Amino acid sequence: MSKIRVYDLAKKLGKSNTEMVELLTGLGISIKSHMSSIDEGLVPMVEESLNKAQEEASRQEIEAISTYPTVAVKDGASVSDVAALAGEKAGSAVKALMMEGLMLPATTRADEKILQILGKTFKKNFVFASEAPAQAPTKEEPAPAGDAVETVEAEPVEAPAQQPREEAPKQVSHKKLKAKDKKKKGRQDGDGELQPRPPIITVMGHVDHGKTTLLDNIRKTHVTEKEAGGITQHIGASRVEYNGNTLVFLDTPGHEAFTSMRARGAQVTDIAVLVVAADDGIKPQTVEAINHAKAAGVPIVVAVNKIDKPEAKPERVRQQLSDYGLVPEEWGGDTIMVDVAAKKGLHVDDLLEMLLLVAEMQELKANPKAPPSGTVIEANLDKGKGPVATVIVQEGTLHRGDIIHTGSAWGKIRAMIDDKGRNVNEAGPSMPVEVLGLESVPQPGEKFTTLSSEREARELISQSEFERRETDQSKAKRLTLEELYEKMQTEEIPQLRIVLKTDVQGSLEAFHSSLMKMSTDAVSINIVHEGVGRISESDVMLASASNAIIVGFNVRPDSNAKKIAENEGVQIRLYQVIYDMLDDVKAAMEGMLAPELREHTLGQAEIREIFRVPKVGNIAGCRVTEGLIRRSAKVRLIRDGVVFWSGELSSLKHFKDDVREIKAGNECGLSFEKFQDFRVGDVVEAYEILKEKKSLD
Ligand code: GDP
Repeated sequence: MSKIRVYDLAKKLGKSNTEMVELLTGLGISIKSHMSSIDEGLVPMVEESLNKAQEEASRQEIEAISTYPTVAVKDGASVSDVAALAGEKAGSAVKALMMEGLMLPATTRADEKILQILGKTFKKNFVFASEAPAQAPTKEEPAPAGDAVETVEAEPVEAPAQQPREEAPKQVSHKKLKAKDKKKKGRQDGDGELQPRPPIITVMGHVDHGKTTLLDNIRKTHVTEKEAGGITQHIGASRVEYNGNTLVFLDTPGHEAFTSMRARGAQVTDIAVLVVAADDGIKPQTVEAINHAKAAGVPIVVAVNKIDKPEAKPERVRQQLSDYGLVPEEWGGDTIMVDVAAKKGLHVDDLLEMLLLVAEMQELKANPKAPPSGTVIEANLDKGKGPVATVIVQEGTLHRGDIIHTGSAWGKIRAMIDDKGRNVNEAGPSMPVEVLGLESVPQPGEKFTTLSSEREARELISQSEFERRETDQSKAKRLTLEELYEKMQTEEIPQLRIVLKTDVQGSLEAFHSSLMKMSTDAVSINIVHEGVGRISESDVMLASASNAIIVGFNVRPDSNAKKIAENEGVQIRLYQVIYDMLDDVKAAMEGMLAPELREHTLGQAEIREIFRVPKVGNIAGCRVTEGLIRRSAKVRLIRDGVVFWSGELSSLKHFKDDVREIKAGNECGLSFEKFQDFRVGDVVEAYEILKEKKSLD
């Protein structure tokens, strides 16, 4: 009887691998993991049991959700906005998302998936305002009085007409209501031109764990016969075919290249393969790689390598990885781990299969008809060919003859060479190509776009030269501890990101826990990476890419790290006494707090008479009864004890003169910004808004 892989079955039946493993085990079918196979004959039984379970689950889910109050969420709301709507902390939302495998900052714009997860967590039926059925927010929920769960006021619903990007809002909301069956239908792609694109993959891990061997094996064995002619062309990235699908691997393994690109604002990697040698386990660079990938929000697939070695302990690797938050699927987590022996090519196919699976879940798409753009991944000056750059196309299709521009370089593409050494005339999304014809050598990590004329290119280059010099000047002070808060104030909950390095493990733990204890609801502390030992180049690059500062205890940066920190404008703070560090961090956090706004009452006046001035309008003749009235003040008009208008003054006069302020006991003429409907007897209250610095305690 033929067999079927558990993950294939899971895919076929629309279940996650973990769910399928649980289901099969529950049915008494003995399997080890989603990589195991079962007899095809068992499939109908599995399907039947699944249908029953699904019916029950969806009945329960619908029952549960229908008791949740509906809460409208504005388009563009962030994760922390959504949490706030439910009266919850942003931190709880981030944690809930993390539990579902989404490592996202609280400032991330919420999408449907996020709403679904947060809805479940906070017991709310979140719907986007633009998609909410008109009657939904008004439908009173039968929430028991005094219950902690209350219907949160819906934000004003924006008229669908104001949303050009959704062509058929009615249809969308209809579909959404029906979409209780959870089937992830393809997103409405606006212009409908989005096409699936191959995933771009970076291999990371500790030195000697087999990154190069793995890449070599993949490249050697998965290039189709007819292409094999010029296989060895190194252009910086390689395309590999597996089961009729394409995968693109960046040739330079390790996280240095990955992070230095990210520090320049470029992210080309969709998936990181973390190679861990089963005979060696987790090493410092493994941890670095994990943190770098996490900081970039790139999903990790683990290749547990060298399992051919007698001393290999793949289970121990899984255990160790779990301590770093990577819990294998077969243990109920959501990290895919594949045992391989790269040298012999053992199970490398399974790894590729898994990479395609992850890619599929990411729904990677690009529009081949969009204006071409992408990122430079390698560049150098070739004696014969002149400036040579390898670019990865991320949107659109690049053609020979196009004029491209990268910020520091430009040129008309004379030739394009693919990773098999062939001349090509065009390159679509995710395709790496070497381009010839540039006027100078661009920087790796720079983005490219195309232009319509050479003149435009020349103008842009001189413009961006100028801008670069400007940013270079501001860069050095951009990330100092004292000034970090300016940047942070744009974030919902300011976050102080720290790369922590100490001399010994004991002090690392002490620093870590004291720092984490300082995290508050108002400012959170995020240790993006920590480790024992000197501050390295890699630490600096991570700090730069994540906008973090580096805190070192009894350690020093090496000279290279120091140089790069200066170039990148990354601040390194060195301490010998833990309390000094805590004081500094606290000061920085307080600096990051948005000032508290407080109202300060200035005074009151009473309207005694109304003058009608032609062309100017009505002027209120007043007497200041308390304090003073200032021209710059904000005012409220109070009639019969009720505020019926508030706004600003448009003039303040003492007899015929404009004055800046006027004190109690004096007469004055007031006019109001865009308001004339006042009466004799109304009271004018003047006040100012003061900003007060908040402190943490
Ligand atoms: P990198 O530094 O991570 O790129 O590691 P390399 O690919 O250079 O591999 C380091 C060493 O481990 C080399 O001697 C490889 O031959 C060896 N190696 C890599 N993969 C395997 C494997 O699957 N099994 C065994 N036994 N050795 C391997």
